[in-house]
Parts: sequence; C-alpha cells; structure tokens
Amino acid sequence: MTDNSRYYINISRNRRRKSNSLITLIKRLLLLIILISAALVVLTFLNQNNKSVSKTVSKTASKITTKTKNKPDMPSVCLDPGHGGDDPGATQGNITEAQINLYVALEVRSILQNDGYTVYMTRTDNGQTMDNTARADYCNSVHASILLAIHHNFFTDPTTDYTTALFGVDQGKVLANAIAQSVSQQLNLSDDGISQFDDNELIKSNMPSALIESFFMTNTDEYNSLLSGNSRLDQEAQGIAGGIVNYFTKPQPSADQINGTNLVITNE
Ligand SMILES: [Zn+2]
Repeated sequence: MTDNSRYYINISRNRRRKSNSLITLIKRLLLLIILISAALVVLTFLNQNNKSVSKTVSKTASKITTKTKNKPDMPSVCLDPGHGGDDPGATQGNITEAQINLYVALEVRSILQNDGYTVYMTRTDNGQTMDNTARADYCNSVHASILLAIHHNFFTDPTTDYTTALFGVDQGKVLANAIAQSVSQQLNLSDDGISQFDDNELIKSNMPSALIESFFMTNTDEYNSLLSGNSRLDQEAQGIAGGIVNYFTKPQPSADQINGTNLVITNE
C-alpha cells in the first residue's frame, strides 16, 4: 500500500461516511415528515371530534329550549272554533260566526302556545264542515286536557249583549265558569253565568269541556266594532286564554259551589 493508495482509501472512506450521513439525514427527514403528518392527522381528527361534540352540545341545548317552550308536564288544550264549511253559524251583514270563531281560536292558540301549552284545533280554515260528535272525537283522540268550543251569540234584540258559557256534564262546570268570568271582565260585559247544554260535543268529550258565547254579534255596538277591525276579537282572545290559564293555575270554586242553571237550549 503506497501513501497514495492510503490517500485514496481515506477519500473513499470519507465519501462512504458522507453518503452514510446523507442517508441518515434523509432517514431522519423522512421520519420527521412522517411524524408531522401523523401529528396533523391526529390534530384534524381531534378538531373534527370537537366540532361534533359542540354540535351535540348545541343540539342538546336546542332540545332543552324546545322542552322549556313546550313543557311536557303542561296541560294541552283542544280548541274548537264552532261551525265552518257548510255551516256558517249566526250571520250579521257579511260577517259569519264561523269566521270570527276561527279568528279568535287562532289568536287564543297563539297566546297559549307562547305560554308553553300544547294546543290542538278541530279546524284551522273556514272550508271544513264537521259535526259536533267528530269535534269531540278529535279532541278525545289527541288526549287533550280540556276542550273549549268558541262561539258568538245572536238574538233579535240588537241591544242584548252579555257573556255566557255552557257545559254538558258536571266536569265542565268549573271550566265554563272560569272562561265566562275572564271573558266578561276582559270585554267589560255582564257575566250571565253558565248553563247546561245537552250537546254531543260537550257530552261525548272525555275531558272537562265547555262552550263560550263571548258576546252577541247581533248587538249594534259589537257589530260596528267588528266592522272596524279585530281589536274586540283580540280582546276576547286575551279573555279566553286568560280564563284557560286561570283554570289551570289558580284555585277554582268546586262544581258544587257554582250556580249553573239546568236550562237546555236548542241552538248555539
Ligand atoms: Zn255558534
């Protein structure tokens, strides 16, 4: 081995070392890239998981909000706007009873729903014709806590005006009384009390049921206010909704304590 050859051997060793360290560097770089990629994958996964967790949280929150709005333990109300379809009920000028019954019922529904009550309606437009048994059947089928039929009275004397409510059987007496009181106060009318009414809807309903005759649409002042807008009907809706809320939330006289006439009337 000459000095020269030693020199070459050294060079070749150096080259090998250099290439070895280059391979190690590349290996380390590759490892680093793999580690960074793995870290990125893990981070992305965690982020997605977080998003789905927050989605679940917001879903749960919205469920809670819904529950608060429609409290499951709150009673439900079946509203029956009287007449409709082929049966307009009482008519005065161009105004039909079916039409104002529906308007008031929709207003009452809106007030009660805002308070968290579940509200069912036997009809929501003026095209539906329903007999009284079908109305009771519907309210029974949804297992409502109470049934309230909304009507307006009529008479030949245009000065007659008062509030009255009807019940079919004793379990509707307290409800009829609570509604009549609240409506007469709200409309500033005299409360004519409650009467028994032999009617399929009131008798066949499984829950306490009543029928409110809020005012006389044949009364001149009432008719004029109907012609000028809905403020009287809005007031009435406040009275009906208030009566329903009172019925459920405030102490009421028992059926025995309420004077109800046993008058059986033949029209509504
Ligand atoms: Zn009627």
